[in-house]
Amino acid sequence: MALLVQKFGGTSVGTTERIEAVADKLCRFRNEGHDVVVVVSAMSGETNRLIGLANEIMEEPTPREMDVLVSTGEQVTIALLSMALQKRGCDARSYTGSQVRILTDSSHTKARIQHIDEHNMRGDLEAGRVVVVAGFQGIDELGNITTLGRGGSDTTAVALAAALNADECQIYTDVDGVYTTDPRVVDSARRLKQITFEEMLEMASLGSKVLQIRAVEFAGKYNVPLRVLSSFTEGEGTLITFEDEDAMEQPVVSGIAFNRDEAKLTISGVPDTPGSALRILKPVSDANIEVDMIVQNVGEDNKTAFTFTVHRNDLKRAKEVLQKVADELTAGQVIGDSKIAKVSIVGVGMRSHAGVATKMFEALSNEGINIQMISTSEIKVSVVIDEKYLELAVRALHSAFELDRNGVQEEA
Ligand code: ADP
Ligand code: ASP
Ligand code: MG
Repeated sequence: MALLVQKFGGTSVGTTERIEAVADKLCRFRNEGHDVVVVVSAMSGETNRLIGLANEIMEEPTPREMDVLVSTGEQVTIALLSMALQKRGCDARSYTGSQVRILTDSSHTKARIQHIDEHNMRGDLEAGRVVVVAGFQGIDELGNITTLGRGGSDTTAVALAAALNADECQIYTDVDGVYTTDPRVVDSARRLKQITFEEMLEMASLGSKVLQIRAVEFAGKYNVPLRVLSSFTEGEGTLITFEDEDAMEQPVVSGIAFNRDEAKLTISGVPDTPGSALRILKPVSDANIEVDMIVQNVGEDNKTAFTFTVHRNDLKRAKEVLQKVADELTAGQVIGDSKIAKVSIVGVGMRSHAGVATKMFEALSNEGINIQMISTSEIKVSVVIDEKYLELAVRALHSAFELDRNGVQEEA
């Protein structure tokens, strides 16, 4: 008998038929004697539809009203799923984030969870009910509705599992686990039986949207056993584990992540003097724009070319900010490029192996793919390339690092 927190994503609750199928699955868990808290996303496409409606009214709606709007998607699915459970004779009760009292800070559209009141949920579980909670949303101290960022239902699930000290947090989605890379891009991608928190954190932060990065952070911080599984097929999925010193030798590269959400900005002819980087990047951060990769290079004329990446949605604003800086610094042109992609190889095994980056560059060079920027850390190497070569690059790297073979397949 276990206490499970199970999260079902947008595709898994995308139609009423699918909601009924989720209800069937939940009834089976209940009949096996498990206590279940369910977290659901909005029906697939609904959050995007709501954002589209807002944008019909104004280009940059206020974040507070955005949260009031987009949180409605999840309210629909908690009610429908609870009805489907009740129809099956399985007692259930739905809760919005504010009804549970998932307390967050006030950073609308990207709020962080601060506290969860588990009192109501415990009462329902003791009374034999399935507790159905709206993902992605919370409430701040002043009673404002907040949301946790795209993909935030994963984080709701992990946070509830931590608060309830659940035996496992299970993320049910439209793939049957975490793969060596996005299986929709590389056919030969393999499901991993397990992946370390550290690697999953890198994969998520570098663009693998199978888990929201904050969910992985939360699981690591609170030691929540976390598993990714399919809503549609049976199987053990992928367990996110803490690194085991005694484990078999890790493959050098465990996975490949990619991200099409970034854009690149270059300001040329910057005088090579102390403080230039600060003068360029401070106004960008003051405008609340996050910078990811940075490359600076001094030419023979003692002028530097300064290049960095930002989220694509921030390109227009960043370019405006940068143009002002360029004028002040009497620097050269400011160029923005949104047709880039970032591809990263990730693996804890990299720590103990030399030549990993070289192998990556060789694989890309063999395909004639030009590298525009590079950044490395202990367990990853990322490159920025032209967006049109993204899929080719991911496939080439997947085979160069023999992930088809190393990915752990279903055991017979
Ligand atoms: P949900 O709506 O259930 O939250 P998401 O679309 O957020 O589902 O996440 C699942 C998707 O993540 C998959 O359909 C897959 O295309 C994508 N994905 C990206 N990288 C990976 C990976 N390494 N392993 C598995 N899925 C991945
Ligand atoms: N519905 C929200 C989104 O589409 C949250 C989630 O699905 O996790 O981003
Ligand atoms: Mg998701």
